[in-house]
Amino acid sequence: MSNHLFDALTAFIPDPEKVFLETGDGNRLTYRGMLARSAQYAGALQKLGVKPGDRVAVQAEKAPDALMLYLGTIRAGGVFLPLNTAYTPAEIAYFVGDAEPAVFVCDPAKADALAGTAQKAGAKLQTLDADGAGTLSQLADEMSEEYETRPRDEDDLAAILYTSGTTGRSKGAMLSHGNLASNSQTLVKVWRFTEDDVLLHALPIFHTHGLFVATNCLMIAGGSLLFLPKFDLERMLALLPRSTSMMGVPTFYSRLLGSDAFTRDLVAHMRLFISGSAPLSAEVHKEFSDRTGHAILERYGMTETNMNTSNPYDGDRRPGTVGFPLPGVGIRIADPKTGREVAQGDVGIIEIKGPNVFQGYWQMPEKTAQEFRVDGFFISGDMGRVDEEGYISIVGRSKDLIISGGFNVYPAEVEAALDEMPGVAESAVIGVPHPDFGEAVVAVLAPKPGASLEGGDVQSALSSKLAKFKQPKRVHVLETLPRNTMGKIQKNVLRDQFQDDFA
Ligand code: ATP
Ligand code: MG
Repeated sequence: MSNHLFDALTAFIPDPEKVFLETGDGNRLTYRGMLARSAQYAGALQKLGVKPGDRVAVQAEKAPDALMLYLGTIRAGGVFLPLNTAYTPAEIAYFVGDAEPAVFVCDPAKADALAGTAQKAGAKLQTLDADGAGTLSQLADEMSEEYETRPRDEDDLAAILYTSGTTGRSKGAMLSHGNLASNSQTLVKVWRFTEDDVLLHALPIFHTHGLFVATNCLMIAGGSLLFLPKFDLERMLALLPRSTSMMGVPTFYSRLLGSDAFTRDLVAHMRLFISGSAPLSAEVHKEFSDRTGHAILERYGMTETNMNTSNPYDGDRRPGTVGFPLPGVGIRIADPKTGREVAQGDVGIIEIKGPNVFQGYWQMPEKTAQEFRVDGFFISGDMGRVDEEGYISIVGRSKDLIISGGFNVYPAEVEAALDEMPGVAESAVIGVPHPDFGEAVVAVLAPKPGASLEGGDVQSALSSKLAKFKQPKRVHVLETLPRNTMGKIQKNVLRDQFQDDFA
């Protein structure tokens, strides 16, 4: 019998002694070590009573053992449910109560605060810290390094991953073994990952980007990970010369560009830089290629669907676009109301169908039903358009669409115009209530270091560039824009902050 995902991840191991993962401190785990340690975690979970289909909820710092716990959960037939390390005990209480896991693993420092939560949910509480110490790793130490991986089918659940909560309360996306394996296998081919790849990994592992896109791809390819607990500029600069590839959120790229030590020579040998999880501004894309000669490859995905589109490996990686649908992934741009495909070039809602699309939201059958068309397309909530050559661009989320005086304003278009202005480091365009227009376009900007921005100047500079109804009626300048841990701008926070602009 086979375990669909684990078999796919370990189908190709170039050499058991090859380094699977190396930490920033130089600790190494070989492929042999990965198989042994994940076996011990699988054994520990089984000993704790985890049965196939049981959830294993984890709020643990990024560390090699936390990754081994992911693999151990899959091997034991469990459903891995990672939680954002920034969540407070009160937030965790909601997620753990919702998930009803068999085992809940947290940092030892939070164990007292979370004991009641675990007990209420009927979960056994275990601990694991950033150095790999805790009750669960102690139990794992006692287990055999051999484990008979439990059978799981393509359709069985492998993970429940919570969305980033950018637009509201996070939802648990149920992902099957087949969802995860097929998407990573596709990405390995499309992005040409091989055993020669060393991926610089500074993303969190509670989110699809760092957990599935980065880790699963490198495992399938038989490559190695340089595994940092988080983005740390000095460490990134030190490790880039030993890497072949990097995956990052847009803020990684702007922070690298902020350093004079980030030079063309430093990354001359690199094969690939990939960006996703939030829009990469065309300005950062251009500045990056001017500085390094590398065109960042931007792709588009979401927790519910894994990756959907990608700019081409060969060919033009176009700034401001997310490229083409991945092989096997169906994408259509539809009228939000009817679901009918819009005319080529028009803006509509992005809908997705394919082996990558999730099994539904955990414990939310009505929400799940609402988000699917009868023909099986998933309604992403992102608005986009396709150009004549087939490149897809995202113009904003449907929840962020602004309707001002009856006209639709797509935030990304206004943001692109703002980002082009000298002195603008980043921008967010939101709609706030307005007595005459229904909603008014408001721009929130953060200046580049040393630059000063005046709202009035920004408005007059835009007056020749954008139709009047798209021009911001007010411009706010903040030191930085509020972002969540995935580097996504929190527009709901800005909307709350500026809701009384025209009251
Ligand atoms: P929630 O669904 O809880 O509000 P979220 O949508 O931010 O949060 P994720 O699943 O982490 O949660 O993020 C997926 C979203 O991120 C996509 O729907 C899209 O809006 C955005 N995104 C991802 N990649 C890109 C990209 N390259 N360009 C623009 N937006 C992107
Ligand atoms: Mg979402």
